Amino acid sequence: MFKKILVANRGEIALRIQRACHELGVKAVMVYSEADREAKYIKLAEEAVCIGPAPSPLSYLNMPAIISAAEVTDAEAIHPGYGFLSENADFAERVEKSGFQFIGPTPESIRSMGDKVSAKQAMIRAGVPCVPGSEGELPDDPVQVRRIAKAVGYPVIIKAAGGGGGRGMRVVHTEAALVNAVQMTKAEAGAAFGNPAVYMEKFLQNPRHIEIQVLADKHRNAVYLGERDCSMQRRHQKVIEEAPAPGIARKLIEKIGERCVAACKKIGYRGAGTFEFLYENEEFYFIEMNTRVQVEHPVTEWITGVDIVKTQIMVAAGEKLPMTQRQVQIRGHAIECRVNAEDPYRFTPSPGRITTWHPPGGPGVRVDSHAYTNYVVPPNYDSMIGKIIVHGDTREQALARMRTALSETVIEGISTNVPLHRELMIDAKFMAGGTNIHYLEEWLSQRQ
Ligand code: ADP
Repeated sequence: MFKKILVANRGEIALRIQRACHELGVKAVMVYSEADREAKYIKLAEEAVCIGPAPSPLSYLNMPAIISAAEVTDAEAIHPGYGFLSENADFAERVEKSGFQFIGPTPESIRSMGDKVSAKQAMIRAGVPCVPGSEGELPDDPVQVRRIAKAVGYPVIIKAAGGGGGRGMRVVHTEAALVNAVQMTKAEAGAAFGNPAVYMEKFLQNPRHIEIQVLADKHRNAVYLGERDCSMQRRHQKVIEEAPAPGIARKLIEKIGERCVAACKKIGYRGAGTFEFLYENEEFYFIEMNTRVQVEHPVTEWITGVDIVKTQIMVAAGEKLPMTQRQVQIRGHAIECRVNAEDPYRFTPSPGRITTWHPPGGPGVRVDSHAYTNYVVPPNYDSMIGKIIVHGDTREQALARMRTALSETVIEGISTNVPLHRELMIDAKFMAGGTNIHYLEEWLSQRQ
């Protein structure tokens, strides 16, 4: 096992990784920008290194500063968390070339999954079902593009190969709008992601977002840890996640889970990863793979009893997966609400000083957050300040626990989306389970 790991992230996930290190008896080196200097998890660390000023490009995205921090502290490995450099193949490569272990998959895996066209091609070869669409990048010739769209069938969606964060996508309903939409998406993709390549998929009308969590070691062992339902989204960003997915037959989950495991083995995947699917009419359609730990990993941890972050560290150190597929048992139901520092209905960011931080507690409640009374939420980063996660024997019990947890939560000084979560937890359709990816936005537009 490593003696010392550098945590190349901030906020709740930096604290989550620090906790995992401490449980494993590993020292955690934290890095921080000038904006995060006063944070408690920085003070809790045995070592902390300032890597630059507040703007992310100068600190949390600053590869040389992060690698030097690992050098001066004699860390052996670097955990990238999520966001920032976590899915940057060049960073993973530079970390390994500098003699450190990158806690994640190989740079080749990250690169191949980071390009959605090559990811889909790899999945098709590995037998994972994908959304029907163009085989690879769209050609320049409008005649060919029209022919492909006709074969796929309208409506179609044009997506950037290098896209992410819900950007670089355009839905097309008619042939008349097609060629122009392709050109516009290409131009946007070139400007935003430095890669103008686009591809086409059938636009699914009412899917749910269902994803499969996998873990793999360096010895070609892989398991899946069930699924998560992340259909409650706003602008393609997840707001509530739960596991298991309500109303999907276990047989279907097992079948797709086994496909994901086979794909991991085929591509030589290692570490934690997520296969994201759209699910409609009892069919799964792969959309992309995330090659890192995800925000919503706690719901899976709770229903399986597996510590995903600790396992990431263990497999990076060369250990074998501590469980077989048969030992992965699903127990109960877990729900996560993302707590964002924002106006609950207008979604404008609300940084600033938290004058009261009173998190919930009691049986079946977990709060992952780096916040506390008098913590100042910096304006420079993502607005998520923590997550409230609950577990129950049944979905009904988990919902009841979440309602209680949200009623106990007091956060003053800034606005948060806790009031929105309180309303959603008593919404009849959400309570019934199985809402699709458009539900939350429709609910929000009707509320106004
Ligand atoms: P990103 O990497 O930007 O998150 P994804 O490919 O994961 O992009 O897609 C994000 C979201 O966009 C999905 O969760 C879904 O809501 C919507 N979406 C993507 N592809 C399709 C499709 N073919 N049909 C319908 N909705 C889609």
